[in-house]
Amino acid sequence: MPERNLHPPAASSFLGSVNRMFDRAAAAVGLDPGLAAVMKHCRAVYQVRFPVRIRSQYQVFVGWRAVHSEHRLPTKGGIRYAPVVDQDEVEALAALMSYKCAVVDVPFGGSKGGLCLDPAQYTADELEAITRAFTRELARRQFVSPSINVPAPDVGTGPREMAWMADEYRRLYPDDINALACVTGKPATQSGIRGRVEATGRGVQYGLREFFRHPEDAARAGLGGTLAGKRVVVQGLGNVGYHAANFLSEEDGAKVIGVIERDGAVFDPAGLDVEALAEHRRATGGLRGFPVRFDPDGAAALEVECDILIPAALENQITAANAGRIRAKLIAEAANGPVTFEADEVLRSRGVVVIPDFYLNAGGVTVSYFEWIKNLSHIRFGRMDRRIHELRADRTVAAIEAAVGRPLPPELTAGLRAGADELDVIRSGLDDTMRRAYQEVRDEWHGGRSGDLRTAAYAVAIRKISRSYQEMGV
Ligand code: GLU
Repeated sequence: MPERNLHPPAASSFLGSVNRMFDRAAAAVGLDPGLAAVMKHCRAVYQVRFPVRIRSQYQVFVGWRAVHSEHRLPTKGGIRYAPVVDQDEVEALAALMSYKCAVVDVPFGGSKGGLCLDPAQYTADELEAITRAFTRELARRQFVSPSINVPAPDVGTGPREMAWMADEYRRLYPDDINALACVTGKPATQSGIRGRVEATGRGVQYGLREFFRHPEDAARAGLGGTLAGKRVVVQGLGNVGYHAANFLSEEDGAKVIGVIERDGAVFDPAGLDVEALAEHRRATGGLRGFPVRFDPDGAAALEVECDILIPAALENQITAANAGRIRAKLIAEAANGPVTFEADEVLRSRGVVVIPDFYLNAGGVTVSYFEWIKNLSHIRFGRMDRRIHELRADRTVAAIEAAVGRPLPPELTAGLRAGADELDVIRSGLDDTMRRAYQEVRDEWHGGRSGDLRTAAYAVAIRKISRSYQEMGV
């Protein structure tokens, strides 16, 4: 049967772009066209309008929650608060969540939500009232539920919004012992998990480290060695961009030579102090005034010559209009959908290597998965066995000291003795996840019919999702 879509997205839209990337990979893996049609489109999209009384006037808010695939439950994905959210965007982001979870083996289907509002226009109390009302609307139709659909933070939302959502859900269903697992990304003190806030940035760091562990992959981008000394330009100093830039410069010795924000870009060939820049942005609302070179034309800054360009802001930043002028050797997509389909084709033909979004920014959902497991098990990771590991390490040290007849230097034993706490366990799980997923994608890249990393990542995701559809029935 021909694929029927009553309201096809414009090819140039975000959803159109994601769909064309999917089609390109589906053709490369020879996916059955019927199965491709099942897998490509969102299963359900819920649009809701609800009133909230703000400053003694009713205001009507419009929000969406899209469910892309339900081959695994719960479905998972963030909720975005932004003035320009629309259904096309939420559907595209939900599709990316399905592929993201599949590629990193996080056993969730894909979903995403959006609420059309500018958070800067509301007080914290008003945002709380709006978030609680939105949660009630979503819960009523199971678009938030610990076993069916689990939201998380995204652009414009964070731990505070997740705490409100979890609390509202628990009030609605006080007899659900797993109620707090209805959202992830909660504050660590409110049943969240340590390391979730920085998880996406951490995942970008781990993903890039793994890329550079394979010299033949780096060579395809005309790069070699490690991250040390690499010239990096970051677009967006929000939660993802800030953490990625900070970790790469502080821990890997990369040089962040440019940062782009809404009001323009700052440059320092010697490497910017990311922490100081973030502090300046928090204090002044922008980058202007930071004591380095400033250019109000942020879009032009994307075209600066560098080793790694990290778009960490929004979708559709690198398009057919500027792709030919990008001078980065490697594009590391920390945002969702920063490169359009047309731009991707241009970059591909120019030999620019792109590490795709739904692999590279999967750190957030990976740690969300750990948080959800923690909530269901009602116990913090490491609580039961940390002391056992320490005791065993003490005995090992004592045995070695008895055998050699002298005490071991304390700098050696300290590392041996420390048991893993929650943050150590989370980091270990995230690092392992990012490494394994990259290896799977690169095997496909080198061995399969996918000519680039993005198509390879899609191919890996498509195979996994189609296998489960075939085994369990669509
Ligand atoms: N919003 C994040 C993303 O785009 C996190 C999703 C989640 O943790 O569920 O991946």
